[in-house]
Amino acid sequence: MKIRARISVTFLAIVAANLVVFSLVIYFISEYFRQKHFYTRLGDKAKTTALLLIEEDEINPKLLQLIERKNLTSLPEEHIIVYNQQNKVIYASADTTGDLGPHNDLLERIRERKQIYLRRSNREIAGLTYTHQNQEYVIIASAYDEYGLTEMAHLRTILAFGLAFSLTLVGWSGWVFAGRFLRPISKVIHQVDQIKVSNLNQRVDVSDNNDEISQLAHTFNSMLNRVQEAFEVQRNFVANASHELRTPLTIITGQIEVTLIKQRTVEEHEAKWKAVQDVIKRLNVLANNLLELAQVSLDDATMKFNEVSLDDAIYQATKMLTTRRPDYHVIFSFANETEAMQSSLTVQGSISLLISAFLNLMENGCKFSPDNQVEVILGADEQWVTIQIKDNGIGIAEADIRHIYEPFFRAENAKRIHGYGIGLPLTYRIIQLHRGEINVFSRINEGTNFLLKFPKTL
Ligand code: ADP
Repeated sequence: MKIRARISVTFLAIVAANLVVFSLVIYFISEYFRQKHFYTRLGDKAKTTALLLIEEDEINPKLLQLIERKNLTSLPEEHIIVYNQQNKVIYASADTTGDLGPHNDLLERIRERKQIYLRRSNREIAGLTYTHQNQEYVIIASAYDEYGLTEMAHLRTILAFGLAFSLTLVGWSGWVFAGRFLRPISKVIHQVDQIKVSNLNQRVDVSDNNDEISQLAHTFNSMLNRVQEAFEVQRNFVANASHELRTPLTIITGQIEVTLIKQRTVEEHEAKWKAVQDVIKRLNVLANNLLELAQVSLDDATMKFNEVSLDDAIYQATKMLTTRRPDYHVIFSFANETEAMQSSLTVQGSISLLISAFLNLMENGCKFSPDNQVEVILGADEQWVTIQIKDNGIGIAEADIRHIYEPFFRAENAKRIHGYGIGLPLTYRIIQLHRGEINVFSRINEGTNFLLKFPKTL
């Protein structure tokens, strides 16, 4: 069932329950007062009859019958019977006693309780005792409350029609208002439905009132911003990756074509093939980096972590770097000597990924510094292991800092130095996987300081 129908039905059910209870209460209270009023009249009638019959000697039953028949105030279908102490009828207003004939148990009950009111097939009956000269008489008066019952029938009709009319009105207005209140949601659904890959920049309208629906629209828009951003990063990634792969392939093709134009000496061939080999090596590095980035971008849950000593990972990364580039230099120190040296530098992680991250940062530091030198400062406290990787190189412009973790981003001042812009995004993701933090402080032409923090294994 749709929300609109659910709201309307719930609203209708609540109002219907209230109205039905209210109508029943009105009906039964009215019925109670009708009966009470009629019983009073019946009782009065019975008492007057007894008074005339028993206490006035001049009035005999025949005369009383005559008086009653001519009495304009008598009740509809009025029937009065008087019994003496021996339960003998001494007076009956009509010739027959009808269903009020001598029911001894009824007479006993009246004598017992002195006064009784009951209803039998639409007739109200009042029974009471009357004592005169030590004789106890029983008078039973019955009549049909024509006026009262007609009024009650009218009340029933009014309540039934009123109920039906009110519920129709409530059902209709509930449906209309639920529709009106839900219209903005339907609008949001419709607008979100229209957003496809081709128009990801489209947004949902946000109204000025700060209600739940405008918050929902706002949330959708924030989500769309993130989706669009992720989509664009992905698109740029694919475009950049293809570009970076195509460039070396074009160079290789060019080199081979030039070589094949004419006959070459062995030395010339060697030189060309060496150049081609260099390009292939770089292509290999790029392919490996891309693969690594794709792997660490997978779900964290697939990663297997062990205890890793960070000083060991840094040592191995340094060895790899200096073996590859003997002209690069790495200087070690401890931030807070005694504490960091004594403290454990172990974290939960993957040693190969951590080596890869440190290698990238150290290589960048050396690569982007004229002195090809980087300083690694290790520190630790109760909860964290910190590593600073500092250089005195070209630095990063403030505006570029927020882009350096985007794949293929290369700052303008770094473009003359070879690179692909994959190392930092890879490093960032690796630090993220280790629940660590990475921050960079840099000034153009003064140097760069990458500050890493890893939570300690307790
Ligand atoms: P690459 O080193 O291949 O260019 P990275 O992803 O490692 O790619 O770095 C991205 C960019 O960040 C670099 O091109 C450079 O502009 C900037 N950068 C990173 N490290 C440094 C650094 N130590 N000094 C100056 N710039 C840096």
